[in-house]
Amino acid sequence: MDFKPLPFPLVDFHIHLVQPRKKPAKGVPAYRRPEYGEAKEQIHRRWSEDYDRPWRRAFNFPDPETDIPPLDEAIRRWQAEAARYNIAKLVFVTGGGNDRLSQVVQQDPATFAGFAHHYPGDPKAAADLERAVRQQGLKGLKIFAPLLDEPLASPLFRPLWEKAEELQIPVLVHFGILGGGGGIASGTNISPLSIEPVAKAYPGIPFVVPHFGCGYVRELLQLCWSSANVHVDTSGNNEWLRWYPESLTVEDLFRKFYETVGPGRIIFGSDSSYFPRGFALRYLLDQLRDCYHLAMKDEDLALIFGGNALRLLKEEGRSEEEKGEGEKQGQGDGKGGEDA
Ligand SMILES: [Zn+2]
Repeated sequence: MDFKPLPFPLVDFHIHLVQPRKKPAKGVPAYRRPEYGEAKEQIHRRWSEDYDRPWRRAFNFPDPETDIPPLDEAIRRWQAEAARYNIAKLVFVTGGGNDRLSQVVQQDPATFAGFAHHYPGDPKAAADLERAVRQQGLKGLKIFAPLLDEPLASPLFRPLWEKAEELQIPVLVHFGILGGGGGIASGTNISPLSIEPVAKAYPGIPFVVPHFGCGYVRELLQLCWSSANVHVDTSGNNEWLRWYPESLTVEDLFRKFYETVGPGRIIFGSDSSYFPRGFALRYLLDQLRDCYHLAMKDEDLALIFGGNALRLLKEEGRSEEEKGEGEKQGQGDGKGGEDA
């Protein structure tokens, strides 16, 4: 698919570095919940797979490769994707643990950013976050709220929120249905509104809710109304729209959030993860078209598709300067370069 580079720095704020499947540590909640037992977990996995094929077909995406590439190969591939699509920054929100992900971002901090994604209920969670940011070079925190049984406003998580505010890092919190079809649809923290007391208590934390709230549009809009530090990310196939009682499109979501929350709090992400698909260009092109159809101003597009992300990562202005430097030095893999 041909791609014409955009006239502003493009940032993908939501990517997953594919990781080897491993059993979660004891006491750490996981997407596949152990309480059902192995045999029933297999049944749930099949339910999920039955949904996977049709949605990939609908988007004309190839099946994911079954082998996980070594880290150096994963790094090379993502660098090539960044060069090919002129992406100023790729933000990995998970990657098989903070240690593994920090190895990746430290190889190329100009191209990559990564988020800590350890279990937030761990007594060491705040200390682990401090280490992840100050020593391992990670730039934010990712949480899957539906996996947590304790309310987000519980005192259990208070040290973590305090640390995130002190570090002034963005915190990306998934709410709503989780995983592909056959995934999680309920839980203490399923609604974005479950974080309102936290957003109010820690106004210094920019919270980002991905996938336009993943089925909880009204709740996310009300959360954004109540708390100006809440942002929304546009990432993924947004297939939850098919399971929404009203007829809505991604363009409708852009319109609604643009009118209410405004362009300064909408952040593009793709939710890309596996190869051979790589960067899910189709989501970018579809979302750009939606925004053009809504006659958004160029400066608003620049915010949504890059500027807001760079602001939250405290890298505003950096990518343009670096790009200039790279071009001057004739770096072969420069982001202003030709398709790889
Ligand atoms: Zn994701």
